[in-house]
Amino acid sequence: MIEPATPEEILAVNRSLLGVERVISRIPKAWPKGVVCIDCGVTNPIPFGRVGSRPLCYRCKVQRIAEQHSLIGEHQPPRVPTDPNDHKVLDETQRIMRLVIVPGVRPEVAANVSAWVALQLAGLGTLRAVA
Ligand SMILES: [Zn+2]
Repeated sequence: MIEPATPEEILAVNRSLLGVERVISRIPKAWPKGVVCIDCGVTNPIPFGRVGSRPLCYRCKVQRIAEQHSLIGEHQPPRVPTDPNDHKVLDETQRIMRLVIVPGVRPEVAANVSAWVALQLAGLGTLRAVA
């Protein structure tokens, strides 16, 4: 049987909504609608880097096919091979989740919130060039 949400879990969900909204609301200030990576055509603006630079995705910038992503954050092991653009989305997800997870949030709820946040951010556009 699933236990009802605790007040801490409701707070975590509300903070995750705000965290995602904050990311979405700052994109138009950084990049025009419909911006694409000038090298590969990726459309998700999260890996595009700084405002005012050319729209170049992180993978094209670093010219690597994989990086080591820490599953606990702060570059600590365990780390897993990850596409550089996915890495940017996962880092942003971890940044949001550090703000939303508070004591009293069950691990399964935290996992579901984290998955939701990651999907919202990944859904902002493509992260890999079309083959
Ligand atoms: Zn690119």
